[in-house]
Amino acid sequence: MKSFNLGHGILHFPLKLPWAPPGFVNVYLVEDDNGYIMIDCGVNGDEYFNELKKNLDSLGIQFSDINLLIGTHMHSDHIGLSSVLREKGLKFGLYKNSIEFIPKYNDWTDRFKLISEYAKEQGAPKEFIDDLNSITTPSTTGKLTSPDILFDEGKIKNINRNLEVIFTPGHDISEISIYDASSKIIFSGDHILPRITPFIPIHDEETSMLNHYVDSLKKMNNFEISKFAPGHFEVIDNPQKRVNQILLHHEKRSEKIINILKDDELTGWEVTNKLFSRPLDSMNLRLAFQETMAHLKYIESQGKIKQNISKVSTWSII
Ligand SMILES: [Zn+2]
Repeated sequence: MKSFNLGHGILHFPLKLPWAPPGFVNVYLVEDDNGYIMIDCGVNGDEYFNELKKNLDSLGIQFSDINLLIGTHMHSDHIGLSSVLREKGLKFGLYKNSIEFIPKYNDWTDRFKLISEYAKEQGAPKEFIDDLNSITTPSTTGKLTSPDILFDEGKIKNINRNLEVIFTPGHDISEISIYDASSKIIFSGDHILPRITPFIPIHDEETSMLNHYVDSLKKMNNFEISKFAPGHFEVIDNPQKRVNQILLHHEKRSEKIINILKDDELTGWEVTNKLFSRPLDSMNLRLAFQETMAHLKYIESQGKIKQNISKVSTWSII
């Protein structure tokens, strides 16, 4: 991957990730009056820190030139290095609700325990439950403590560039996108990506993350946008088209699930297996299960299906 030429005083470099796809995370440096604002920073680890430092060196940027580090969301590929960078003097900001989810970020065992209990209720087999319960926190996550700045929606204070925080939960409960008024570019984190539709997780049993996500997609219509500068892969030059493609993808997948439930009352696990019929490795199976549950809750909120709560729940058409 190469650096993007975005103009408007915006620099970019791709930073290596320990897993592929996506293989890289995009780091942006937005020129401020007397320095830069950095957006996202990659995973924790010496190798990744050295790589980041090398990229900054080649741009002639010192840590002391960076006035603010913005984390678009609480995933390790975007903020894993933030603690190390704070030790170098960088001020770090996340959306205000992030404070609530720091323990969950730092402890994956806890996070996956909740998903495993949910999976059990949704009829998942023992191997899948055991797989979820075996997950521990990887070192690439780093250790997160309360950010220096908690953002609200709207213009970011105490900087000289007109950057606006847009709260765009869905892929993550605290995800934000950043609107740069002078270039009309939106730094979209993982809210909007090219090539792949961002993964929608289970946050907890009550929250419908896909409802949040669709609302966040529609929020993009409030802005005049020239490009999306995403957290992974290449720049998106036709922003409206990409928003519509992603919306369509979720509507199609929802229709598919309604069809699957047409003649059968099924558990969440059974729907997952019918929706993703090709064999999946354990990581992709985890993603597939969560994505399916996100859709079931979304369709339920539209009043088209219902969950029949029991020790093992099932889903059926209304
Ligand atoms: Zn990401």
